[in-house]
Amino acid sequence: MTAVNDRNKCCYCAGCPIVCPVGAIELIDGIVVIDKEKCTNCGACVKVCPVGAMSIKR
Ligand code: SF4
Ligand code: SF4
Repeated sequence: MTAVNDRNKCCYCAGCPIVCPVGAIELIDGIVVIDKEKCTNCGACVKVCPVGAMSIKR
């Protein structure tokens, strides 16, 4: 499982990179990039996202 970003919903508020406890999220050129190897599926990014653009997928 890993966190995934829905680019159609994401407004690039930069909230999720700040709350990720393991530094698995980067905003690169306006796109949310998730490091699947680092992600621990903690759900913090899902909770913080104001537009429901983050989810945990198998
Ligand atoms: S689920 Fe947790 S570890 Fe994975 S990207 Fe989101 S905040 Fe980071
Ligand atoms: S918190 Fe949500 S809207 Fe903000 S950058 Fe992350 S995925 Fe995009």
